[in-house]
Amino acid sequence: MATKLRPIQTIAALTARRSLSTTHRYASASSSPQIFRDVPPLRTYRRSLLLSNRTVGLVPTMGALHDGHLSLARLAAVENTDVFISIYVNPTQFGLNEDLSSYPKTWEADLVALETLDAELAATPGAGRISAVFAPTTKTMYPTLPPDSSLPGKGSFVTITPLANLLEGASRPVFFRGVATICLKLFNICTPERVYFGQKDVQQTAVIRRLAKDFHVDTTVRVGPTQREESGLAMSSRNIYLGTRRRNVARVLSQALRRAEAQYLAGKRTRGDILWPATAHADEVAAAQEELDPGARAKFEVDYISLADPETMEEVEVVDPARGAILSTAMKMLPLEEVAEGEQLGAGDDKIPVRLIDNVILEPAE
Ligand code: AMP
Repeated sequence: MATKLRPIQTIAALTARRSLSTTHRYASASSSPQIFRDVPPLRTYRRSLLLSNRTVGLVPTMGALHDGHLSLARLAAVENTDVFISIYVNPTQFGLNEDLSSYPKTWEADLVALETLDAELAATPGAGRISAVFAPTTKTMYPTLPPDSSLPGKGSFVTITPLANLLEGASRPVFFRGVATICLKLFNICTPERVYFGQKDVQQTAVIRRLAKDFHVDTTVRVGPTQREESGLAMSSRNIYLGTRRRNVARVLSQALRRAEAQYLAGKRTRGDILWPATAHADEVAAAQEELDPGARAKFEVDYISLADPETMEEVEVVDPARGAILSTAMKMLPLEEVAEGEQLGAGDDKIPVRLIDNVILEPAE
């Protein structure tokens, strides 16, 4: 089989060596996912799959894998024979003042998680397998000019306006330009039948759908449900920065959205009627934290609580029940002011501000 003859690495080989070598080796009969760092070997592999009538589902990630990512891989394995996972922390989607350097990188743990999931899939009748992990270098992804996060910036970019300028895009002006650009590159490299994105980043799913439509990308965009911690907090790679105190308060995002959703489910359709309980809840929680001592509280700032159209992400005054809407919010958990004795802290000792997002889809009601 062609897949056994290419210069590749496998996760099993890498994790056994516990170090990442740049030397490739020819694959053995191992069925461990293969790691690709460069485009040509991945293309050759992809072509061999195509010629064998196999299908590819791509899950783009920035690593620091958690159950949210793995749920997308599982979904991809239900619908495709082969799952490709890309792991690449894309510099152009981080603004100049954002957390690129502190973004969590957990390469070895990611490989173990993928290997474990692949073993689970191997034991699941009819499931596809994780056959490729694409972990390119920045030189591979930005072959001509180094990645530029400034505006207008130098380089080849995909911009999707005005969709990408709203909400997350208003707070993070280069974010969706970076996302759309890197995703188009990944789609061109992997030519997947299907691509998988999480509902957690709902505006991103709208941007990717638009990208696929407007650039005639021959792939189907699939969206998997948001995976949550027990408290309701949406899983995120950035949650590792939250210790117990900030994590508890961070429930405010999902709680606020659920209150607004309840209004819609009770038949309310106007913006004011739907949003007020969400805003009131966020205000109450913020005020209650303010009352506490600095050693006991976790302060946060609300960026937005939005009620928007599901396709354009433009704010709506009245929800058209035939279209439904997206409720979404972004809040910044501020660094703890004082740490209590013996307190369980997150990575970076809870000194790193953490921007969290969450959303609920208001499904069409007619
Ligand atoms: P990231 O590595 O954060 O860029 O995320 C990679 C993919 O995983 C994106 O499509 C995200 O929307 C998705 N994802 C992240 N967190 C979750 C979650 N809690 N539930 C479902 N999907 C998620």
